[in-house]
Amino acid sequence: MKSFEEIINSEEFTAEELARLLDADETEQEALRARAEQVLFDYVGPNVYLRGLVEYSNVCRFDCYYCGIRRSANVSERYTLEPEQVVEAAVWCAKNGLASFVIQSGERRSDKFIDDVCRIVSEIKRNTRSERLPDGLGITLSIGEQSYASYKRLFEAGAHRYLLRIETTNPAIFAAIHPEGQSLEERKEALGYLKEVGYQVGTGVMIGLPGQTSLDLARDIEFFRDTDVDMIGMGPFLIHHDTPMSEYLEEWERRKEDIYRLALKMIATTRLALKDINIASTTALQALKPQGRNEGLRHGANVIMPLFTPLEVRQNYKLYDGKPCLDDNADDAMDKVIKNVASIGRQVGLDLWGDSRHFKKRQTNGH
Ligand code: SAH
Repeated sequence: MKSFEEIINSEEFTAEELARLLDADETEQEALRARAEQVLFDYVGPNVYLRGLVEYSNVCRFDCYYCGIRRSANVSERYTLEPEQVVEAAVWCAKNGLASFVIQSGERRSDKFIDDVCRIVSEIKRNTRSERLPDGLGITLSIGEQSYASYKRLFEAGAHRYLLRIETTNPAIFAAIHPEGQSLEERKEALGYLKEVGYQVGTGVMIGLPGQTSLDLARDIEFFRDTDVDMIGMGPFLIHHDTPMSEYLEEWERRKEDIYRLALKMIATTRLALKDINIASTTALQALKPQGRNEGLRHGANVIMPLFTPLEVRQNYKLYDGKPCLDDNADDAMDKVIKNVASIGRQVGLDLWGDSRHFKKRQTNGH
């Protein structure tokens, strides 16, 4: 068995070695972090890319046991933004140097929903082209499992990246946190469609789920590698009080320090294993610790998604308790993110799409 030091300096990793990295104690974690930061600098550079995030609608057909906007949750108001509100937020982003934009939503499949998102995407494209941004804003969608035909329409409307988390690749855990009728196989199929249509594809998992081991997370990283994804967004599992998984609250409270550290180690280990992909430092990390998103960046992440959802609906899009940034307006959000990034000696890549290097390589190699 290789030593910890030998593992972090390897080029390739077995599942057991990845699990060993995830089990790092505090001293080892610092060595892992430093190595991940080095790999980040060597393969993708130190820039931090921003994606302005708008939470388009909290209406959802799914009933995931962990999520605060699940169909059966008692959300005080179910909303869907007007297309103009989304376009307005996007135009603000384009004017303020944020060259990429994410539209996230609860999951819906009606033709009207897809038509509306297509219209929003093409309007954003039309309204954000400028000398600085000849191709307009880069647009990422995070609107769940859809049909091949819908993914294609949305792509043709101008979206070019898509985030769809696998949540966990352990079939027993997946089944335990989702109602019957939602399946791991369908998620995998949807990820295949996204790739086939031509998106830059992102996936990810929740870290610290009940019953999830380091080896499970190691296998998640192998899944990221084997499906050849371009982007990763992942974060700690957090409790929402009005969900079936709130029954784990006590256990979760006891473990939350460990879950926080595990989430950071997961970012660093994924960076070592996949090297040239984009990795987001997520809001969920910041929900656990005020400095969480900075720590994510220091552990090898290079993307941040500041929130630009109109303030009046923001409190209705709570996937978990303790969501930060509930009342930061656009200027505050932008100021904070620039200062935070500077505070760890990095720089925001203003006016740059910041596409995944991995995707570019994939295109050049013709697969
Ligand atoms: N409906 C879309 C996008 C919204 S949910 C979709 O399913 O893709 C975005 C992500 O939030 C989910 O993929 C999940 O990983 C994360 N999430 C939801 N509830 C959470 C919780 N309680 N703790 C941590 N992450 C959560």
